[in-house]
Amino acid sequence: MSLRQKSDKMGSSNPVIGLLGGGQLGRMLCEAANPLGIDIAILDEKNSPAKQAHNTNRHVTGSFKDPVKIRELAARSDYLSVEIEHVETEVLEDIEKNGVEIKLADGSVAIHKPPIHPSWRTIRLIQDKYLQKEHFRTSKTKIPIADQMAIESGESALKSLQEAADKFGFPFMLKARKGSYDGRGNFKVNSAEDFAPAIEALGKLPLYAEKWAPFVKELAVMVIRTEDDEGNLRKCVAYPAVETIHEDSICTKVFMPPRGVDDNVCEQARKLACDVISTLWGRGVFAVEMFLLEDGSLMINEVAPRPHNSGHYTIEAVPYMSQYKAQLYSVLDLPVPDELTPRVSSSIMLNILGGAAPNSHHKLARLARTTYGDDFDVYLHLYNKESKPTRKIGHITLTGFSSIEDLEKAAEPFISMVDQIRE
Ligand code: ATP
Ligand code: MG
Ligand code: MG
Repeated sequence: MSLRQKSDKMGSSNPVIGLLGGGQLGRMLCEAANPLGIDIAILDEKNSPAKQAHNTNRHVTGSFKDPVKIRELAARSDYLSVEIEHVETEVLEDIEKNGVEIKLADGSVAIHKPPIHPSWRTIRLIQDKYLQKEHFRTSKTKIPIADQMAIESGESALKSLQEAADKFGFPFMLKARKGSYDGRGNFKVNSAEDFAPAIEALGKLPLYAEKWAPFVKELAVMVIRTEDDEGNLRKCVAYPAVETIHEDSICTKVFMPPRGVDDNVCEQARKLACDVISTLWGRGVFAVEMFLLEDGSLMINEVAPRPHNSGHYTIEAVPYMSQYKAQLYSVLDLPVPDELTPRVSSSIMLNILGGAAPNSHHKLARLARTTYGDDFDVYLHLYNKESKPTRKIGHITLTGFSSIEDLEKAAEPFISMVDQIRE
């Protein structure tokens, strides 16, 4: 029995995973955990989407950036994990090294050290996209990334942007090093005329510039990484490669398998994803976002150390080991398969983004709720989040028993409604 269980007044011997963040990823993690008898304690605001999906009195109300609250969560948990990478890692490092105090039933105090997966080292590295990619570039396997350079802040910013333009040409991508999601920290710099608006938009943040990647497609691969308690890598197992469509830098659609991409390239993508993830630390699922270039070569865009939008489709397409179940199993160090073969031939995931009105998505949700195909199935996931323009408030997964092209035809009414909401 663990120390945490000995201190537990709630009488449960189920493992408890303490989760930093309670958004839709945490919600779907809870949906996977519930039937397995795994308890999740969530640190986030009251009634956050994940808390709604899992009834326990272990949740902590507060911010996943607040060290006091993170310690409170650690004291209630057998393991710690994250559903978002923008968390406070200093305190995670301290918990790993020094633990947290917990009170046992007999009144004595003990030091409790819940294992943290993925490692705070991985989370900290990934938080800074510039350092993340330097790490990949200089790793033993020489992982391909776009050329990049750090951009000076303050008065030197203009000069630094000019240097980036001289080095990379136009356009190039200016990016916030930290805190970005859904492209919110990105600015495409088309000419010197964009320097001032770029500084206006992002100038207060630490920045870096990336050479433009003239990709023909974007691919993503989810990888399960397992290691023993001493930190020795056991294995990396890749899900199938998927095609991701980003519009205005937000992922809107995912296709499995990618349309018009050679099986060879998909296999290379999976191999590259495993190479990337084997350079990191800790257990869990990871998303590897990449660019497919015209010459068929691949380049890494970035990694997410958690379940990911591009892996939602696994709930229905790989039901015996969805990305959420895989996150639970890897964190708890339960066995995961050596191969991840989908149970369907094709799958399409469509994000439901909030539209101009709070009910802009209702017609689409209604269609998804009531459509039955002959050779495809439709699954609706709403996150019960307040609808705001461009906010991810749900998704629809279609699975098919024939080609991705046939499934795309069947998905046409859904795709056109999703696109309409964005207009
Ligand atoms: P996420 O929500 O995936 O965390 P993010 O805010 O971290 O997004 P990125 O993944 O860096 O942003 O970029 C978002 C999108 O912008 C990419 O998926 C791609 O479409 C485009 N993009 C990013 N970098 C480049 C580049 N160097 N060249 C061309 N397009 C790029
Ligand atoms: Mg990102
Ligand atoms: Mg990204």
